[in-house]
Amino acid sequence: MTERLYAACDPYDHESLLTDAEREVLWGLRRVLDEQAHPLLAEHWDRAEFPTALMAPLHELDLMAPPALTADGAEPRGLYHAFRVFELARTDASLATYYTGQAGLFRTAVREGGTAEQVARWDPEITSWRMRGVFALTEPDHGSDVAGGLATTATRTGDTWVLDGAKRWIGTATFSEYLAVFARDTADGQVKGFLVRTDAPGVQMDVIPNKAALRMVQNAHITLTGVEVTEEYRLGNCTSFRDVSRMLRRMRSDVAWIAAGVQAGAYEAALRYTTERTQFGRPVAGFQLVQEKLARILGNITGCLGLLTRLSVQQDTGVYRDEDSALAKSWCAARMRESVALAREVCGGNGITLDTDVARFFADAEAIYSYEGTHEINSLIVGRAITGLSAFTH
Ligand SMILES: Cc1cc2nc3c(=O)[nH]c(=O)nc-3n(C[C@H](O)[C@H](O)[C@H](O)COP(=O)(O)OP(=O)(O)OC[C@H]3O[C@@H](n4cnc5c(N)ncnc54)[C@H](O)[C@@H]3O)c2cc1C
Repeated sequence: MTERLYAACDPYDHESLLTDAEREVLWGLRRVLDEQAHPLLAEHWDRAEFPTALMAPLHELDLMAPPALTADGAEPRGLYHAFRVFELARTDASLATYYTGQAGLFRTAVREGGTAEQVARWDPEITSWRMRGVFALTEPDHGSDVAGGLATTATRTGDTWVLDGAKRWIGTATFSEYLAVFARDTADGQVKGFLVRTDAPGVQMDVIPNKAALRMVQNAHITLTGVEVTEEYRLGNCTSFRDVSRMLRRMRSDVAWIAAGVQAGAYEAALRYTTERTQFGRPVAGFQLVQEKLARILGNITGCLGLLTRLSVQQDTGVYRDEDSALAKSWCAARMRESVALAREVCGGNGITLDTDVARFFADAEAIYSYEGTHEINSLIVGRAITGLSAFTH
C-alpha cells in the first residue's frame, strides 16, 4: 500500500480511488515538485519569468504516458491524469497551466481534431514533449463570444491555406513549436483547426506584460499575417465550431482540477503558517475564528474533490457533456476564490508576501477563475442544459 499523498487535505480519501501504481507515479512528481520546483517559485513569480530549468525534469517524468501505467498498450485513466493536474496545481498554478497547456489543450486539439493518421503520427511526439504546442482560440476582440465571433480567416489555394488574424492570451506560446490555430474558412464560413509553426513567416508573438496573476506563464498576443500552412497540417476532423466545443468539453474539467489543487496548496500553506505564528501567547490556529476559516476551506476542497472524482470516473466511462465540465469549472473556481481569500486572511499581513506561498495562490486564482470560460459563460452553458433555453445574448 502506497503512503497517502493527500492525508492533509482529502479527509474523505478520494485518493483511494487511485491504484497504487498511479499513486507511485504521483509520488515521483511530488518529489520533483518539492525538491526542484518549490525553491524556484517565489523568485520566478516575482520576476515574471517561467522557471525553464524545470522543463527537463518535468518532461522526463513522462507523466502523459508513464511506463508503469502503459504496459501492454494500456491508456492511463482519466482519473490519474486528473490527480496529476491536482498535484501540479497544489504546488503552483503556473506549473499546472504549463503542463495542461501541452497535456490537455494541445494534445486534445490533436486527438479530437486530427484524423486517425494524424493522431498516430503526432500523439507520441506530443506525449514525449518532442513536439510542443499550445491552443490558440481566443482573439483580442473575441473571448466569451469566440464561437460566433471568431474572426481569424483561413483561405485555401490548392494545397495551401493562408491564415490572417490575431490571437490573444495564448499560454506559453513563446517557447512552443506549434500553435493549434482555429480560423474561419472563407469558403464555407466554418471554423477549422491548423497546426502552425511558431517560426513560420508572418507569425508575430509578443508576451503580454504587467500581469498580476499567473506571472510565470508567458501569455502571448499573436498576429498572423499571410501565414501559409499546408493541407497536411490542417486538423482533418475539425470542420466546425462543434468540433472545437468537443475539445473544450474535455479540457475544461482539467481547469476545475487546477482550481481544486490551488485550494489544497493554499490550505496547506495556511495551516503551516497558522500553527507556527503565535499571538496572545498561542498559535493563531488555536483561535476559534481562525479554525472556522480553516474548516471552511477544507469543506470547499472536499466538496470539489467529491464532485471532480465522480466526474472523472464518469468521463472514464466515455460520458462527456458540455454542462458537466462547465458546472465543475464554474463551481470549483468559485470555491477556489473563497478558499484562497480565507487562506490569505488567516496569514495576516504576511499573507500578502510571497514568503507564505498563499499570496501566489491568491493572485493566480484570479486567472484560473476567468480562463477556459468565465464563471458567467460556464453558468450559461449549464443554464442552457437545465432549461433548454440559451441565454447567451440577453
Ligand atoms: C492567464 C490566461 C491564460 C489563457 N490561456 C488561453 C489559451 O491558452 N488559449 C486560448 O485560446 N485562450 C486563453 N485564455 C483566454 C480565456 O479563455 C479568456 O480570457 C476567457 O474566455 C474570457 O474572455 P475575455 O478575457 O475576452 O473576457 P470577455 O469575453 O471580454 O468578458 C468580460 C466579462 O464579461 C462577461 N460576459 C461576456 N459575455 C457575457 C454574457 N453573454 N453574459 C454574461 N456575462 C458575459 C464575462 O463573463 C467577463 O466577466 C487565457 C486567459 C488568461 C487570463
